Amino acid sequence: MRYLAHLLALLAAATLCAQPAAAQSILRDAETEALLQEMAAPLVEAAGLEPGNVDIVLVNDPSINAFVAGGQVVYIHAGLIEAADTANEVQGVIAHELGHITGGHIIRHSDGANAANNISILSMLLGVGAALAGAGDAAMGILMAGQRAAIGKYLAFSRVQESSADAAGAEYLSKAGITGKGSLDFFKKLQNQEFRYGISQDDDQAFVRTHPLSGDRISTLRESYIADPAWDAAPDPTLQIRFERVKAKLFGYVNDTSRTLQKYPESRTDVPARYARAYAYHKVALIDQSLAETEALLAMAPDDPYFLEVKGQVLLESGRAVDALEPLRKASALTGNQPLIATLFGHALIATEDKANYEEAERVLRAAVARDRLNPFAWYQLGVVYDAKGDMPRARLASAEQQVMTGQFPAALASAQVAEAGLPVGSPDWIRAQDIGLQARAALEEARDRR
Ligand SMILES: [Zn+2]
Repeated sequence: MRYLAHLLALLAAATLCAQPAAAQSILRDAETEALLQEMAAPLVEAAGLEPGNVDIVLVNDPSINAFVAGGQVVYIHAGLIEAADTANEVQGVIAHELGHITGGHIIRHSDGANAANNISILSMLLGVGAALAGAGDAAMGILMAGQRAAIGKYLAFSRVQESSADAAGAEYLSKAGITGKGSLDFFKKLQNQEFRYGISQDDDQAFVRTHPLSGDRISTLRESYIADPAWDAAPDPTLQIRFERVKAKLFGYVNDTSRTLQKYPESRTDVPARYARAYAYHKVALIDQSLAETEALLAMAPDDPYFLEVKGQVLLESGRAVDALEPLRKASALTGNQPLIATLFGHALIATEDKANYEEAERVLRAAVARDRLNPFAWYQLGVVYDAKGDMPRARLASAEQQVMTGQFPAALASAQVAEAGLPVGSPDWIRAQDIGLQARAALEEARDRR
């Protein structure tokens, strides 16, 4: 699991500036994204949206919330995953959020094809300026999406919009043949305010604040769910098993180690508990304990790409890059070079500081960004490889990609100009450098006009 640093999003638009925005970040994890995508797929289809165009994005925020903002993206807080007991509950939330998308309850941008464009365009519309937390974070790369995540806290829907999203969500669940039981359970849970974690009540109730909840809503939902033939359909058991894994790994990743060990004590030897502890120990540099958990997981499932990924990550981040290569190479192969895993593998190849590995690193990273451009960390790594090879124009182009994605527009413009000057005229890379230059310049002009 890769954590794309903190973003200090400063809300400049007066209308939205009721409260200062909290630091927000996006969590990207191959296993989690694959699961959320699969959980959403039948609902996306039922909603008449194009499956490939709807992204489910995980926000590193402990409060219970989910929202949509621009384009076709559903944001889900880590706190919501923690609060949900079943994959079916989360599917209920996704169905409801899709209802907000199809209902047009959001600021939309008609050209929904490119997520990166949506991100920057929406930021401009709302007048959001970003301040980067520091050079280290900038190197890691921060997705602009983090800004939108912050915005979501302050965009509340009206009761009319809530009812319409509820009705649409119920329709999508029904069409997909998924029971509304989880949805009902989750809303009841929120209503009863059962969930009070170690954070303020305000934050606990984020979902209720952005999606006003009433007794009427719940009884209306119950009526339509119960009448539906899907009501008695059993939820997919394999999704539930995967959900429990993802939930545990997320828990271990975001929480204090002591809290994880309370919830997943050493006495538990099941997969979710070991998974949670592998991350929990790694967080506090208890490398041997963390590796013991990953070995136990791999003993149960030697070809599980995500177990291999976490083992590789622990080894890499504890300074054992050479040892990390084998599990990461295998994890990449098993997932058909899943871009986030391939990025980690590319990082490990570079971290060996063995020039013989750089060619493979370049190949792996290029393939990763070709499939998933929104990966500032992969661009950063690719820049390192080009730099080591003495290919300065491409090193600067990779920097430009990373900088424009993380909102560092002056730097992106400068990098793009240097790249353009050094690349063969008319080549795809040269065209790309021009595009980035234009995008950065437009963003800078927009910012100046706002002032
Ligand atoms: Zn809502």
